Amino acid sequence: MRPRGPIAIDGPAASGKSTVARGLAHELSGCYISTGEMYRAVTWLAQSASVAPDAPSLGELLARTCLALEIDQEQARLLINGSPPPQTALRTPQVSEAVSHYAQQSCVRDWLIHHQREASNQGLVIMEGRDIGTVVFPDAPYKFFITFTDDYLRFGLLGFMFKSMQFINVNETLIKEVVYSFYKS
Ligand code: C5P
Repeated sequence: MRPRGPIAIDGPAASGKSTVARGLAHELSGCYISTGEMYRAVTWLAQSASVAPDAPSLGELLARTCLALEIDQEQARLLINGSPPPQTALRTPQVSEAVSHYAQQSCVRDWLIHHQREASNQGLVIMEGRDIGTVVFPDAPYKFFITFTDDYLRFGLLGFMFKSMQFINVNETLIKEVVYSFYKS
């Protein structure tokens, strides 16, 4: 049975969320969406327009911006006004240092969350980010919270499924098996 999503992958920075999300997208023929990329794209867009995080014009800038997520491949293609933002631009120190300031703005969060929810209606998405299971898709059938284990070499995974709060601890390889067996049952 092909799973129905969305699958939410939460966890702190550098916990391995994107690795797990990519792996699941590949195995399940779904589409991986990095919400961090979306926040970086907004930051890049605003900086390109010289709009500060606390500027009232930030909301206006977003209102006249067209964001699209194409999810017909293994990783979503993010388009801003019809074009992909240059990947190198999203990873500059300038963007990395400012992104959390833009991400705190409610106009930014509301705008991006709206688009994240819209994307989930288009097919199976595996979405990764710190608020996906809690805020964006609180009712997602499959949610995972990922942390590093002590030895820092293996992923520890706390999965909570169907709100059952059945916590499990598995390594990266087993994540796929867990999701598979759940879907097949
Ligand atoms: O995952 P990545 O490091 O690319 O995320 C960039 C930043 O975007 C994070 O440090 C955080 O400030 C913000 N972010 C967020 N909510 C998300 C994803 C990212 O606030 N769901």
